[in-house]
Amino acid sequence: MASPARELPAQKRIVKRDYPVGIALLIIHIGALGVFLPQFFSWTAVAVGVGLYILTGMGITLAYHRLLTHRSLTVPKPLEYALAIVGVLALQGGPIEWVAQHRAHHAHTDAPGDPHDSNKGMPWSHWEWLFRTNEARVAPEARPRWAADLYKDPVYRFIEKYNVVFQFVLAAILFAIGGMPFVIWGVFARLVFTYHCTWLVNSASHEVGYQTFKTGDRSTNNWWVAVLTFGEGWHNNHHAFPFSAKHGMRWFEFDPTYWTIKAMTWLKLAKNVKIPTNEMMERLAVKKTTGQFGT
Ligand SMILES: [Zn+2]
Ligand SMILES: [Zn+2]
Repeated sequence: MASPARELPAQKRIVKRDYPVGIALLIIHIGALGVFLPQFFSWTAVAVGVGLYILTGMGITLAYHRLLTHRSLTVPKPLEYALAIVGVLALQGGPIEWVAQHRAHHAHTDAPGDPHDSNKGMPWSHWEWLFRTNEARVAPEARPRWAADLYKDPVYRFIEKYNVVFQFVLAAILFAIGGMPFVIWGVFARLVFTYHCTWLVNSASHEVGYQTFKTGDRSTNNWWVAVLTFGEGWHNNHHAFPFSAKHGMRWFEFDPTYWTIKAMTWLKLAKNVKIPTNEMMERLAVKKTTGQFGT
């Protein structure tokens, strides 16, 4: 007699320790140590690394996060694809995977079902969730359900499938132009720096900082994470209003990603930019002070 199927439903399947991700992260971190070798140093290579950090960091904050995950704005489709490719160059997985994990984080913030539940400690929410056995990480079969809007688009399925290839193409171009110094600074060091900046949003911005809004989770507003991530450190604001294209809500909460979105609207490249009203913010505020939000 045939035994009944033992496989769990797709969305319940536990993502076991992820060796490919763990080994890839190890190799990339070892490669980044090349910045300490004088033969790989040049100011031009440093400038390439910094420039690509700004570009691909914004690819995560503006494209993957605010545009694709939360649909806080709309842009013409060809521009949306181009921005997604800039996001892919941060090597944080394809857009479907990234969006699925992040939507699961918002659906179950700091609770069972959150892929990087901050109650499990900072090392976990920073990066261990990526490569250790993680019952809350959205399994590949379940990603189309979490990111159905992207999955139905063949362009996104193509970008998803070949997301790593884009990195190799970039590395080849950098090598052709500036040799190993460009690869060390423009790929390895830049990836490591951008990784830890992104991961700090999940770790430090669920642990260190202040809460402006009653969100019922551990999310915080953290200025130094905001500096490193172009405004994403205002994470308590973000959990209060996930739909908002603007994360910095008070006058001192600088938000370069939102400034870029504003510039895109002036250039008629973005529309339907969503932000909460003052009334919505005052209703959810921890401190009941009128006029504290300047939208
Ligand atoms: Zn969060
Ligand atoms: Zn989010």
